[in-house]
Amino acid sequence: MNYEAVIGLEIHAQLLTESKMFCGCSTKFGSEPNSQTCPVCIGMPGVLPVTNKKAIEYVIKTGLAVNCDIAPYSRFARKNYFYPDLPKGYQVSQYELPLCGRGFVEITVNGETRRIGLTRIHLEEDAGKNIHEGAGNHSFVDLNRAGTPLMEIVSEPDIRTPQEAAEFVKKLRAIVRYLGVCDGNMEQGSLRCDANVSVRPVGQKEFGTKTEIKNMNSFRYVEKALDYEIRRQIKVLKEGGRIIQETRLWDSNRGTTESMRSKEEAHDYRYFPEPDLVPVETDDKWIEQIRSQIVELPDARQRRFISQYGLPVQDADLLTSERSIAEWFEEAVKAGGEPKTVGNWMMGELMRLLNEEKRQIEESALKPAQLAGLLKLIEKNVISGKIAKTVFEEMYKTGGDAETIVKEKGLVQVSDESEIEKAVDEVLAKSPGEIERFRAGDEKLLGFFVGQVMKSTKGKANPKVLNELLKKKLSI
Ligand code: ADP
Ligand code: ZN
Ligand code: MG
Repeated sequence: MNYEAVIGLEIHAQLLTESKMFCGCSTKFGSEPNSQTCPVCIGMPGVLPVTNKKAIEYVIKTGLAVNCDIAPYSRFARKNYFYPDLPKGYQVSQYELPLCGRGFVEITVNGETRRIGLTRIHLEEDAGKNIHEGAGNHSFVDLNRAGTPLMEIVSEPDIRTPQEAAEFVKKLRAIVRYLGVCDGNMEQGSLRCDANVSVRPVGQKEFGTKTEIKNMNSFRYVEKALDYEIRRQIKVLKEGGRIIQETRLWDSNRGTTESMRSKEEAHDYRYFPEPDLVPVETDDKWIEQIRSQIVELPDARQRRFISQYGLPVQDADLLTSERSIAEWFEEAVKAGGEPKTVGNWMMGELMRLLNEEKRQIEESALKPAQLAGLLKLIEKNVISGKIAKTVFEEMYKTGGDAETIVKEKGLVQVSDESEIEKAVDEVLAKSPGEIERFRAGDEKLLGFFVGQVMKSTKGKANPKVLNELLKKKLSI
């Protein structure tokens, strides 16, 4: 029997507001523990929370970007549970009336585009953090994060493969980053993902029993964890067992998921409407004002890059994966760079150098107009493509202009025939054996001659002139 997987994701995104959800405390990351707290976010009795308008606007913005219905009326609810990092004994969340209702995003996997439904997006506050390391027999609680705004995006069970799931997270991450509502940092936990997964025989309509996987802090882990979990469930069913509804933790060291708690032990959260906060009412004017601030999103930008610049789909996909990359590309093109060539240099050399140093493109000393300047020198035959790589690395290191670097380092390409001829003659004079083998049919040796001349001219010989000369001298 063949099985297929059914997957639904829940994504938590920390919103990039300056202050917390219901008080004025800063949301800055990495400060001294408990330095960003006040009576509201540490849960003192008698205080009254006030909703952060920006947080609501960020959720509406996201909702509009992913085709959701925006609720005209929504409200907060208390989700009650006990845990040391939750000082109030409840988390303010939204339950039966979330800010955003149904929507969808499109993902493309192996050339096939599919629409993944969204169930809802709601707003809630984050909890604090328990610290167990370096504390001997004690644990500490840091409440700096308590009360920071979190947006939860819930998908329909429309995803069918681990690859689609990873693509879905990637797409949503790109969208929230484009919108500037979340920094999308999965390693630091500002974007977190829980995956619900079940399997069923192909052709069966009803869903199987699902498990929920937590603790995956990268796209790769989302894919790996689901892959493992799907295999595990199929094996259990094939051996005549049944799936227990439970929460499982991804263990990246072992590459497995382990049971954390079963549904039987799961909490009854006793949700009820939050009495201390006014409901949220939205009107068309407010919504349209938020809509007008939405920038061109990755999908639209990708389509435009294909039609306007004639880029291949894959290039357009990569170059629009981040807003900063897309902007860098367009600036270089505006400065006169040929689009496909600009893209190639960015996806090749630039990304390689940035990755090596784990840097973002906006931190690059090399600016878009300077890349366009380099490309002009190649076009005008001032330097060869090979030398250009050296110049590029220097530009990346120092932020200098191509022209200056080429002049200072004496890298101008030699196109003068007599000069190259001299170098060719010298190489040929030293290689009688190779000439003989070449004439006897070993054509690969042409590359050897080219290489030798390039070496003696320090890569500066114009390859076209060089090739013609060599062919003439070897009479082919
Ligand atoms: P719960 O009540 O356990 O929180 P929900 O119905 O709220 O479950 O769904 C939570 C997530 O699980 C959603 O993303 C949904 O798409 C997904 N989901 C629901 N049922 C299944 C299933 N049988 N298999 C896989 N995913 C599922
Ligand atoms: Zn506070
Ligand atoms: Mg649920």
